[in-house]
Amino acid sequence: MIRLDRFLANSGIGTRAEVKKLVKQKQVKVNGKSIKSPNQKLKDTDQVMVNNQIVSALVDRYFMFNKPTGVITATRDAKHQTFLHYFREEVHVEKLVAAGRLDKDTTGLLVVTDDGQFVHEIIHPSKKVPKIYQAVIDGQLTESDKELFGQGMQFKDFTAQPAQVKTVKLLPQNQSIIEVTIHEGKYHQVKRMFEQVKKPVLQLHRVQIGQLQLDERLKPGEYRDLTDEELIMLK
Ligand code: URA
Repeated sequence: MIRLDRFLANSGIGTRAEVKKLVKQKQVKVNGKSIKSPNQKLKDTDQVMVNNQIVSALVDRYFMFNKPTGVITATRDAKHQTFLHYFREEVHVEKLVAAGRLDKDTTGLLVVTDDGQFVHEIIHPSKKVPKIYQAVIDGQLTESDKELFGQGMQFKDFTAQPAQVKTVKLLPQNQSIIEVTIHEGKYHQVKRMFEQVKKPVLQLHRVQIGQLQLDERLKPGEYRDLTDEELIMLK
């Protein structure tokens, strides 16, 4: 939270005294409404306008998004809906990026931010931030499958860090829900791991990155700000 007068002064609009004058003249709007006090505190998501021109936000923004299926994590795509569609009401939506990718049909936790350095911290393989997924698979994991996951699976293009797997629930028709923890984020990694044991993934949902858990109150397509405590968990 930053004070409006400091925000405007930092953004080069004028000195605090000049900003006060602009407020008095009703030239400053927050989220479309004229405001009365230059001391007002701003949330990261507030849109500030002076003379009907948007003033750039100087603070970084961090969101937790529950990605629905059918949505892609790239910022642009000619054919498919991107995650940015859900953020279209945000100021400077063009600055937002997703920290890591989820496949179009994968749901769940996606961190969205305009802080590039932070993205690097989360997704760079050297950081080995664990990511936890719930996978519905066709089949049941055997002890030898579990060992393969735990040894670090070999692929043509990389060797995975040892992954942890746990059966959460057995489902009808020989399907099961597995919790799997991986320590990098290679393309289709979880699906490729289950392919190695010949138990294809039918549904995939990310529930956790590092210590950060998906807020179960968020419905698919909803997002909220990360709290300061959550941000510290990831930094
Ligand atoms: N692994 C996958 O196979 N897909 C995802 O979306 C994420 C991890």
